Formats: sequence, C-alpha cells, structure tokens
Amino acid sequence: MDGLTTGFNGIVLAFVPIQAMLLAFYRQRKYPPLKRDRMFALIISAGILLLPLCLMTQQMIFYVASYACMLVSLWNYFGKQNPEQFFEHRTGLFNRHAFECLMQENAGRHYTIVSLCIRNYLDMRELYGDRQMDRCLTQIGHWLHEAFPAQNTFYLRNGNFVVQSFAPFDQAATADKIQARFEQSWQVDDVDRFFDVSCALLDSSMRASSAHDIMDCLAMAHHRQDHTVLPEKTPVQVDGAYVDDLHKEVAVKRALERAVENDGVCVFLQPIVDARTQRIVGAEALARLFDEKLGCISPVEFIPIAEKDGSITELGRQVFEKVCAFMSRPEIQALNLDWLNVNLSPVQCMNPHLADEFIAIQKRYGVPAEKIHLEITEESIINLTTLQNQIAKMRAVGFRFVLDDYGSGYSNLMMVRKIPFINIKLDMTFVRAHFQDPNTLLPDTIRAFRELGFSITAEGVETSAMALALDEMDTTYLQGFHYAKPMPMEDFYAFMKAVKTQELEQDEAEEDCMVAAESV
Ligand code: C2E
Ligand code: MG
Ligand code: MG
Repeated sequence: MDGLTTGFNGIVLAFVPIQAMLLAFYRQRKYPPLKRDRMFALIISAGILLLPLCLMTQQMIFYVASYACMLVSLWNYFGKQNPEQFFEHRTGLFNRHAFECLMQENAGRHYTIVSLCIRNYLDMRELYGDRQMDRCLTQIGHWLHEAFPAQNTFYLRNGNFVVQSFAPFDQAATADKIQARFEQSWQVDDVDRFFDVSCALLDSSMRASSAHDIMDCLAMAHHRQDHTVLPEKTPVQVDGAYVDDLHKEVAVKRALERAVENDGVCVFLQPIVDARTQRIVGAEALARLFDEKLGCISPVEFIPIAEKDGSITELGRQVFEKVCAFMSRPEIQALNLDWLNVNLSPVQCMNPHLADEFIAIQKRYGVPAEKIHLEITEESIINLTTLQNQIAKMRAVGFRFVLDDYGSGYSNLMMVRKIPFINIKLDMTFVRAHFQDPNTLLPDTIRAFRELGFSITAEGVETSAMALALDEMDTTYLQGFHYAKPMPMEDFYAFMKAVKTQELEQDEAEEDCMVAAESV
C-alpha cells in the first residue's frame, strides 16, 4: 500500500509543473471574461489546490479529484477552449466572435460602449496599402489596450474598434482621449500615418435585441458619419431615437429594393410657370416611393440610399422611361408643354452608358429630345470627362441641360463654365433666404446669369408676393407650392386640362372685350 501511495504521490508531484504551466498559459493568453473561461481558471486552480491535500491526507478521493481536474484542464486547453477563436491577430484585441459571446452571455446586464471607426476605412486601406494598414491596426490595438486597461477592447473589423465594460465609465472622456490620440500620427517604417476617426457612444438603454443588433447599429452609425459633408468630431449618441432612425433607413432600403425590382417607383409632376405670362410651360418629374408600412417616402430619404447601393441607375432609368411614356401619349402632346425636367443623380452622370441608354428609350417612345431637360447638380462634376462626353452625346440629339439647386451647399461657377446649360434653377433655400432677409445677392445673381444668356427658374415659390418680386428681378420661370404641389401624372393631366379650359375661356373673354372695344 505504501508503495502505491508513493507512486500516487509521484504522479501528483509530476502534475505540479503541468498545472502551473497551464495556469501560466491561461494568464498569458487573452480570454474575454466569459463564464466558461472563468470556469476553466477555476478548474486549474482547484487542481493545484488539491495537490497539497493529496500529499498531506493521502486520501484516494483527493488523488482521483486531482487527476480529474488535470484531465478536464487539458481537455479544455487543447480541445474546447481554443483562445484563437476570440483573438484578432493584427490588433492583439478580442475579435467579433468574442464580442458576440460576451454580450450574449451577459444579456440583461448594464453595459457601456465607446466605438471608434477609422473614417473611409477601405479608401484608407487602398491608399496606404494592406501591409502598412495592418501595421497601423496593430499600433492602434496596442494603444487601446494600454490606454483602457479597465475595459475590454475589441476589433470588430473594417476599422471598427470597441471599448466595452459592464461597469459604467466616462464615455465622453474616453471619446475625447481617442480623438486626441488620433490627432497625432501612427508611425510605420518611420512614416507618419494619420487617420480620422468617428466615435459612437452606446449603452444598454438602447435595448438592443442581440450583439448582432449592436454591431449593425455601430456599423450604420459609423457609415453615416463617413458620409456627412463636414466630419464631426463630437461622438454620435446611439440611443433609442437614433436606432429607430437607423431601422427606418433599413426599412426604406427594403422598400426601395422592392420598388426598383417591380418597376414600382412612382413619378409625380410639379408644374413650372412662365413668370411673365403666369402660364404653365413645363413640369419637373419627381420620384416617389409608396410602402404599405411607411406610406409615402420622400426622395430626400431614398435617393441618397439608392445612390449608395447603386440602385439609382435603375431607378433613374425607370423614372426617365415613365416620363417618355407619359409624353408620348397623344392627349399629353395636345397639352403643348414645352418640356419636362428629369433629375439626374451624380451617380448616373458617372455611367459611361447613360447617353446610349437614354437615347434608346427616347427613340423607342418617339419623344422629341428637345422636350426633355435633364437637371444636374454641382456634385455631378466628380468625373468631368465622363460627364462631358455623356452630355455632348445627348445634346447632339437634342436633350437640354439644367443646373439644379444653385445656391445650396457649395455652389461655385465652375459647372456653368464647363457645361452648356440653358437654365439655372435657384435652390429654394437661396430664394427663401432673400425673402427672410433681403439684400442684393439674389437680384445680382439673377442679373449676372441673365446677362450670360441663361434663363432662370426659382424654386420654392410659395406666395404671390414672392412670384411678383421674382418676376420683377427678371426670373424666367417659377416653381412652387403657390402654383401646385407635385402630383401623380394622371392628376397632373386633369389639372392641366382644367387650366387649359380656363385659359381658353379667359382668351375668349379677352377677345370679346377687344371686339367690343373696337366696335365702340
Ligand atoms: P429638387 O430637384 O430640387 O426638387 C425640388 C424639390 O422641392 C421637390 O422636393 C419639390 O417637391 C420641392 N418643392 C417645390 N416647390 C416647393 C415649395 O414651394 N415649397 C417646398 N417646401 N418645397 C417645394 P422632393 O420631391 O421632395 O424632391 C427632393 C429632391 O429629391 C429633389 O430636389 C431631387 O434632388 C431629388 N429627386 C426627386 N426625384 C428624383 C429622381 O427621379 N432622380 C433623382 N436623381 N433625384 C430626384
Ligand atoms: Mg430638380
Ligand atoms: Mg432643385
């Protein structure tokens, strides 16, 4: 029996370095604070604690327990518990999977998150190259780990890092510290690399349904920040209202996909009036989306989404085709409209096949190209050569071009010099600003364009006083709610018929008056 005990003691003593090694490895390797990892540490520790008990008491039960702990530890370490699955190699931080497991396991607990994302990550990766970019990620990961030792740090992918804790911490101060660090460079091969970051603050009050929900919201919040015109340094607060807004964006995206797929985009028309005669000479085609749940969706919401996901090309084609189909109807031709305006997105203007596609559609419906004016904005100048080529092709068959939204955003006169426009549309913010706080800017702009030979359309005309004043400033055409809101094509036809009948009666009455005056 003594010999057996000595043998057991020998085995148990041999366990010591193995158990100690496992514990050392466990401490060295990084695990997210998951329950199963805490359990793993507990089992190794129990195994180590049992060793002196075996030696002191020499009880079989302790030998067996110690042996079992050892086996379970080894099984955990080499089998089930592979820390690699939680580890992101470039950054040395926990990965997406670790974030998912941790949040899932602690569902219902209060958490605080500061998320940071390298702005325009994919462009930056292309600019700096994969190798340099990965080395920058390593430095950023290392810095985050050192700077926030009390929090868990994750790299979720695509330039998105997360600082998380279940104990509350000062989110604003954390975001400030991050912004301050990113104002300095990251050095790779003695070269300074700079990144702009956006920060998002989030906590459990947002009531996310899963870790996926959190990650989706963070990705969308950062994506939005990438697309703001002037990058904001202040972090965005991802709270309930913000999340509702993000969810609405997703719903709009789905409605857009459905509509484009089923040719379900509607076209509304808003009349454009000759400022002098007050007669309707044309109309602008404006896209509308209708969704069972969301109702009527404004183009201000869905056009930017369509531009981002590329569906604007198909949407724009459908709008154009519907306009051509409408104009080809004999009863519409009888209305004698001078033209219909169709909006072109900057994304459409970058398509080298745009002219061929539009000319083919216009020919198929037999609509004179002169009757279609295409509206483009200053933003369309992204690729001037493509734009000029497309415009030259379309002008050659008769299409005409109009500069839209002049006076909004970053208007400059570059477009006017580079592209042969026939008409300049003054943005309604520019027009309204004049009526709120009059000065000479609007009349001077109109005069300058008129002297250069352009006709002018003022948008957002809401009162007869505005219409009168704009006519006095020599504005050529007027568009706005004062005349009519955008309406479905069939309503526009009915509206135009009523207007034409009224005009006819007026003309007849005037003629009668003249005849009466002559006979007197
Ligand atoms: P836009 O081309 O500048 O169109 C004029 C916008 O002003 C329209 O808004 C119109 O409803 C609105 N509007 C006109 N008169 C008044 C007024 O007196 N008061 C007020 N408050 N608003 C007035 P809408 O239809 O919401 O369109 C917004 C923008 O969406 C358009 O601005 C255009 O940039 C874009 N869009 C609309 N349809 C299309 C389309 O088919 N393709 C493309 N690429 N963009 C489109
Ligand atoms: Mg327009
Ligand atoms: Mg406009």
